[in-house]
Amino acid sequence: MAKSPETEHPIKSFGWAAYDTSGVLSPFNFSRRATGENDVQFKVLYCGICHSDLHMLKNEWGNSKYPIVPGHEIVGVVTEVGSNVEKVKIGDKVGVGVLVGSCQKCENCTNDLEQYCPSHIATYSTTYYDGTTTYGGYSNLMVTDQHFVVRWPENLPAEAAPLLCAGITTYSPLKYFGLDKPGLNIGVVGLGGLGHMAVKFAKAFGCKVTVISTSVNKKDEAIERLGADSFLLSRDPEQLQAAASTLDGIIDTVSADHPILPLLNILKPHGKLVVVGAPPKPLELPVFPIIMGRKIVGGSIIGGMKETQEMLDFAAKHNIIPDVEIVAMDYVNTALERLLKSDVKYRFALDVGETLKAD
Ligand SMILES: [Zn+2]
Ligand SMILES: [Zn+2]
Repeated sequence: MAKSPETEHPIKSFGWAAYDTSGVLSPFNFSRRATGENDVQFKVLYCGICHSDLHMLKNEWGNSKYPIVPGHEIVGVVTEVGSNVEKVKIGDKVGVGVLVGSCQKCENCTNDLEQYCPSHIATYSTTYYDGTTTYGGYSNLMVTDQHFVVRWPENLPAEAAPLLCAGITTYSPLKYFGLDKPGLNIGVVGLGGLGHMAVKFAKAFGCKVTVISTSVNKKDEAIERLGADSFLLSRDPEQLQAAASTLDGIIDTVSADHPILPLLNILKPHGKLVVVGAPPKPLELPVFPIIMGRKIVGGSIIGGMKETQEMLDFAAKHNIIPDVEIVAMDYVNTALERLLKSDVKYRFALDVGETLKAD
């Protein structure tokens, strides 16, 4: 007989789960595996609410496995380590992001690009090596293979957990596509969880940052609050015309359908448009502006474990901290509704450590 989530492992655990495509979360008792020799067990302190949690909770990508305990921006404090674990010890702060497993043998894995491993294992709603389903950080504790655990820098607050998805998702493409050089002109499309981190990292790299948005309301916050250098209203043909061929690169964080022709037109020749949002429908790719300026359209997702650690250390050194609204665990359904309406600046962080109670 198949074991239940509550009895399949020896360590009692609890969190909040969705049971169906309504996506509504409620308290859930389950279990975690015993700490293996390569595992780190930790008590969850904070967990960010990522936009992809919304998609997964409602099975909008078609691969959700219920019940779902979401959460892949997780910071905690180590409570137990396996005998082979040297990188952290009991009492250390650690982070876990989007990945908890990969083959560690393929070309991607051996090049520290675990995120592109064809058999990577996601932090929640995915089948783990032992056949059980992974459960994420909306829960009291985690047990994770040390390879997928990062050291949390001393001077980063634990509620900066969104660095582990929103942060690395924007840091990695800026680095990989060479958009991290002082003086470059970088555009950031969309000013949500991902976009606000892209602005912060690009500024820290010494770039000049233009926030591109459909909403004129974002102008003040882009410039005053986040320190962007300029603002471009993407619905205004005159502003677009004036900005033609001015940007070296664009990080496009928008996850709704939108035209990319205006973005290609404001890139310089050899400019790069990097897509990190995930619109449900295919984007239309106009070829003329690409071939006429040898421009590149690329994509990127999170980062490998080595780069995630590098990003955290960089964020700690340059004091790059996500803007979070800290909320209690029992506020999670309201937070998800507000996130759907983009009613948050710019990320919710669940105070799991202080507010998650056993059912
Ligand atoms: Zn995420
Ligand atoms: Zn691999």
